[in-house]
Amino acid sequence: MSFDHDAWEIVVGLEVHTELLTRTKLFSSAINEFGGEPNTHIDPLTLGLPGSLPVLNEQAVELAVRVGLALNCTVQRSVFARKNYFYPDLPKDYQISQFDLPICAEGSLELPNGKVVGIERAHLEEDTGKSTHVGGGGRIHDAQHSLVDYNRAGVPLLEIVGKPDLRSAEDARAYVAELRSVLVAVGASDGKLEEGSMRVDCNVSVRRRGDTELGTRCEIKNVNSLRSLGRAIEYEAARQVDLIEAGERVRQQTRHWNEDDGRTHTLRSKEEADDYRYFPEPDLVEVDPGPEWVERVRAALPMLPAARRHRLSQETGVPLERVALVVERGLDDLCLAAVGHGADPERTVTHAEHNLSDARAGELDPAHFAALVTMETGGELTATQAKTVLAEMVETGGAPAEIAAAKGFEAMDSGELEGIVDGLIAAHPDEWQRYCEGDGKITGFFVGGVMKATGGKADGKAVTALLQARKG
Ligand code: MN
Repeated sequence: MSFDHDAWEIVVGLEVHTELLTRTKLFSSAINEFGGEPNTHIDPLTLGLPGSLPVLNEQAVELAVRVGLALNCTVQRSVFARKNYFYPDLPKDYQISQFDLPICAEGSLELPNGKVVGIERAHLEEDTGKSTHVGGGGRIHDAQHSLVDYNRAGVPLLEIVGKPDLRSAEDARAYVAELRSVLVAVGASDGKLEEGSMRVDCNVSVRRRGDTELGTRCEIKNVNSLRSLGRAIEYEAARQVDLIEAGERVRQQTRHWNEDDGRTHTLRSKEEADDYRYFPEPDLVEVDPGPEWVERVRAALPMLPAARRHRLSQETGVPLERVALVVERGLDDLCLAAVGHGADPERTVTHAEHNLSDARAGELDPAHFAALVTMETGGELTATQAKTVLAEMVETGGAPAEIAAAKGFEAMDSGELEGIVDGLIAAHPDEWQRYCEGDGKITGFFVGGVMKATGGKADGKAVTALLQARKG
């Protein structure tokens, strides 16, 4: 399924639920830990037993505030509310959440490409348990019986609601990846989509390009990888365009993404807030962290990915869009230290981008890294040799000069190279004639000849430049 992206615009807003890395649950001292034997991380509150009362977990509040500040939100007085609905994995028959007064409001997230996405709010709430439907196809409809595990019930969640500012599947993927980096950086989440510690619900609508009003949206559930997210958005947008082009209407629905058939399916018509009969939670007081406490939390935040990208770009002169991967790999400090040791900034970042995907790269000695780059820019090593030496440095932690010597990558001075190039030109006048007449295909003949004569030690770029110079 596809559609004309020049005629139609996709509008996406994401809601991300993230489990907070607390020691215990949001309102009780039951342990917060992924997995475990079913129904072992529970207590009377988790099971909603009569007489049990919630006590708010301070660590969860602090993590929520850290995330809110990292997303440039206002941290405000917040009130817990009961969201009423019946489901077997929700033993109290209501979820304690926040409604009209969330803990964090109005923020933003900057993507690696520089786009800024609005954040509407982030609120605290408890997670549900987990149902397993046995028999039939594993779906509730034709199951013979169902099992419920309450280990996850009551685990603290932060629901981060983004504004509908995303305009493509790629934007949406970049947003989730960036949000994950921020959550991991502030210690709020382990960022594991596949274990469900981050869960993405995705609101998709379409409109004709130039229209300013939003179309009717559908919410897609069960998107648990970045790849699925992109596929689900593209599929859903195409489905909606087809409906509209056929003269039909898009109905507001909650839909389920099926990874196996690559489609979204109707789950239910979308609930409105009224359906949940929200009211303030009578067993909890409002949360109003004082400004001093909030400022202490802010002061303890680490440098965030967007700020690190700007710093690396500013200090090396490499454009912002090229430094994203380096920061994602956590190699920005290494690069800055190498530049501090005199390495060429461009070459340093390029190596980190292309040749340092190994997880051990962060342990490189910055002085060694700088020496390697300087050997390359000084003409002692070709680009290919530098790459080989760098790989070995990561592997063994050795110094570049010794590794290069052990591999026989001795310096090739430019006079030697000129002599070889001139000899080759003199020996092949016909080929040289063709080269001078602009036959680009013959370049390889000369470069190959030089490589053969030098045992691969020559720098391809230097050879091409010499040929150009000789042509005059
Ligand atoms: Mn929620």
